[in-house]
Amino acid sequence: TIDFKWIRENTDTVAANIRDRNSTANLDLVLQLYDEYIALQKEVERLRAERNAVANKMKGKLEPSVRQALVEEGKNLKEGLIALEEDLVQLTDKLQLEAQSIPNTTHPDVPAGGEESSVVRKEVGSQRNFSFTIRDHLQLGKELDLFDFDAAAEVSGSKFYYLKNEAVLLEMALVNWAIAEVSKKGFTPLITPEIVRSSVVEKCGFQPRAQNTQVYSIENSDQCLIGTAEIPVGGIHMDSILPDSDLPRKYVAYSHCFRTEAGAAGAATRGLYRVHQFSKVEMFVFCRPEESDKCHEELITIEEDLYASLGLHFKTLDMATGDLGAPAYRKFDVEAWMPGLDRYGEISSASNCTDYQSRRLGIRFRPSPADPAPKKGKGSSGPTQFVHTLNATAVAVPRLIICILENFQQEDGTVVIPEPLRPFMGGLELLSPKT
Ligand code: AMP
Repeated sequence: TIDFKWIRENTDTVAANIRDRNSTANLDLVLQLYDEYIALQKEVERLRAERNAVANKMKGKLEPSVRQALVEEGKNLKEGLIALEEDLVQLTDKLQLEAQSIPNTTHPDVPAGGEESSVVRKEVGSQRNFSFTIRDHLQLGKELDLFDFDAAAEVSGSKFYYLKNEAVLLEMALVNWAIAEVSKKGFTPLITPEIVRSSVVEKCGFQPRAQNTQVYSIENSDQCLIGTAEIPVGGIHMDSILPDSDLPRKYVAYSHCFRTEAGAAGAATRGLYRVHQFSKVEMFVFCRPEESDKCHEELITIEEDLYASLGLHFKTLDMATGDLGAPAYRKFDVEAWMPGLDRYGEISSASNCTDYQSRRLGIRFRPSPADPAPKKGKGSSGPTQFVHTLNATAVAVPRLIICILENFQQEDGTVVIPEPLRPFMGGLELLSPKT
């Protein structure tokens, strides 16, 4: 449930937030649809009451002519009611669709502005100085025989790839290593469904019905391919009340991700950087509202520790208002140095979505009696409250393969495998060109 009442009562705040976040949401239209919805709902209730009154009147002994008139009236009321109930279903759908673009509230510390206004929180390592002419990951992949983009283009289309030889071991090592490291910290490992209901996709804040959507929908079905494991993990506790003692509940999920990348023309698209299908290990947390800022810090620290232990040079950014997307209240991105591409590239993203997803997914908890009574107002309802949800990338495989190949290449064309991954690759220390 989106809290339309709260939006109606706080229009100035909501409008300012929409402006600050550079959102395309149409608040006036949402409010107009909401008012129409309330009016129609009242009318439906009035007709239902009238129909019930007529039905009650028919219970006693009646003159045949009176009964006949009541039967007629009841029939008319029923027909009118059916029509209005259909209108109400359509109006509700329109309202929900339009309201999808209204963004979450924003953490007070989020820097205002576009992408360039994001603030560096932390920087680890520095750009490596190479004493030789470096290769990019495409060149290295060719010499090491790691990819086949040409066959993938024929078989699937552009922006697909085959991983070959040690690249297969590298993907599996990255996935296994991330699952092992993160599950040590109390996260439950999951492998998720990769086809989900469109309604769940929407409840998580993605827009399969929007123009230029990132989401692949499956024709003649109400299902989509997932763009991230965030969707099936978010949905795992849909419409339920979690025991307070179980919070925070933490998952680390492995899945493939599918993205149309509509509108990405012109962005960095070379090689593995922006593809339609990739593997990812994703962290997801359900927690009490008061602990979500702390959980967010924990998630970004796990990410930083993972990338530092691989030996990467990266920066962590507190993303500006214009770059948050609708569900996030605050977002930290990690950008790592990719020397062959000669740029920093985003390798991960950690978002605190507060109650944005849990409201839509219907995920609540009941504070234990020892806790103070839940506050009235946004985020609470009677004895239960909405949980907060957070998601964060542990390993997005293709961009980490780029980082590893480009940063750890040597003059002779070999690539040094980061130490933590070696146990997951049968002890392999070096990738060597095929002669
Ligand atoms: P997101 O769920 O959009 O925050 O993405 C999580 C991470 O997945 C990003 O930080 C990237 O490392 C990676 N990623 C996103 N889109 C793509 C893509 N099209 N191809 C390869 N990696 C991607």
